[in-house]
Amino acid sequence: MKNWDAIIIGAGIIGLTLAIELHKRGAKVLVVERGEPGREASSAAGGMLVDSPLETHTVLQPLATASARMYPEFAYELEVESGAKVDLRDQGAIVFPTEPWYESAGLESLLPSRLSEMEPALANASRPAFCLKERSVDPRGVTAAAIKTAKKRGIDFSSGDSVTAVNVTDGRATGITTIKTTFHAPKVVNCAGAWSGQIGPHAFPTRPVKGQMLCLVSPSRELLKHVIRAPEAYLIPRSDGRIIVGTTVEEAGFDKRTDVSTIQRLHRAAVALVPELRNAKILEDWAGLRPGTPDALPILGATSTPGYYVATGHFRDGILLAPITAKVMAGVIDGIEPEYDVTPFSPARFR
Ligand SMILES: Cc1cc2nc3c(=O)[nH]c(=O)nc-3n(C[C@H](O)[C@H](O)[C@H](O)COP(=O)(O)OP(=O)(O)OC[C@H]3O[C@@H](n4cnc5c(N)ncnc54)[C@H](O)[C@@H]3O)c2cc1C
Repeated sequence: MKNWDAIIIGAGIIGLTLAIELHKRGAKVLVVERGEPGREASSAAGGMLVDSPLETHTVLQPLATASARMYPEFAYELEVESGAKVDLRDQGAIVFPTEPWYESAGLESLLPSRLSEMEPALANASRPAFCLKERSVDPRGVTAAAIKTAKKRGIDFSSGDSVTAVNVTDGRATGITTIKTTFHAPKVVNCAGAWSGQIGPHAFPTRPVKGQMLCLVSPSRELLKHVIRAPEAYLIPRSDGRIIVGTTVEEAGFDKRTDVSTIQRLHRAAVALVPELRNAKILEDWAGLRPGTPDALPILGATSTPGYYVATGHFRDGILLAPITAKVMAGVIDGIEPEYDVTPFSPARFR
C-alpha cells in the first residue's frame, strides 16, 4: 500500500500551492479532490491582488502585503515549470470609492486630464478617482499552471473522490476516508474551501458566499489597461482582450447558478463605467463560492488533533494569499517557528 508524508484535501489554489511547497521541501504528497482539480472558487475568481490598507482587514495586512510581494516570483516559477501562462499584469487599479477613504489616507484624486490620459476609456467619468499600485492575474491560468506543475513534480492526485472524514488513531491523524477508499499519511491538511466544515472530526465554520461574474470580449485589446473598481462593479482586463466584470456577495448556500437580472445589472454597470463596452460581445457568465468565515479571516494552522491542519476561509482574497499561505502552512507543518504571527487565524478562535 502506498504511503504519503502529507495528504491535502481539496485541489483549489490553496491546496495546490501548499502541495507544491511541501513537495519542494521533500515531502511525498497526495491531493484528494471531490470533483476535478481547480474547478471551484479558484477558477471563478476575478484575480485582483488587492493589498491596499484601505481595503484589507488590519489583521490580514502583513500576510496580504507579503503575498502581493511574492507574486512576481510565484507567477514566474509556475509559468516556467508548467509552460502555461498566468497573465500577471501590473498596470495598477483605478478606484472610484464610495466614501472619502482615499482622501483621508492622503491619496490625491486624479485630475480629469490625468485620468483620461491614463485610461482614455474613462474620459467621461465625473467622480473622484484614485490610482493604486496593484497587480492582477488570471485565476484560471494560475490554477491550471499549479495543476500542471504539481503533476510534473510527481505529486499524486485522486480526483472525483470526496473525503468523508479525517481518520484519527490514538488521538493522532493517520489519513482520510473517501467515498472510494482509505489513504494513509501522518499529516493531513484540510483545504476544502467553502466545504471545509463538512469533513469530520472538526466542524470549521466555513460557509459559501456566492459571487456572480460576467466575461466580455473587448472591441479592442487596448481598451482598458487598469483594473477599474467602483461600488457598482469592477472590471479586470486580461491581456487577450477579455474583460471580467464582477460581482455579487450573496448568502445563497451552495447554489452556483447565475440569474439573468443580476448578470444584466453587471453588464449595465460595466457599460456605464466604460461606454465603449456597449459593443462588446458577452462570452460567458458564471458563479463561484468563496469560503467565508464568521470574522472574514482565514483559518490557518494546526488543529487540536495532532497531525491535522487547516488552510481555508480565504474569502475574497484566496488568489492573492495563496503564495504566503503555502509558505506559512509548510512552516507550521514542518514545526518551524513561523515568520508571521498566525495566531489570529488559529482554528482554536472559534472554540
Ligand atoms: C466571484 C469570485 C471572485 C473572486 N475574486 C477574487 C479576487 O479578485 N482576488 C482574490 O484574491 N480572490 C478572489 N476570490 C476568492 C478566491 O477565489 C478564493 O478565496 C480562493 O479561490 C479559495 O481557494 P480554495 O482553494 O480555498 O477553495 P476552492 O478553489 O473552492 O477549492 C476547494 C476545493 O476543495 C474541494 N473539496 C471540497 N470538499 C471536498 C471533499 N469533501 N473532498 C475532496 N475535495 C473537496 C472542492 O471541490 C474544491 O476544488 C473570488 C472568489 C469568487 C467566487
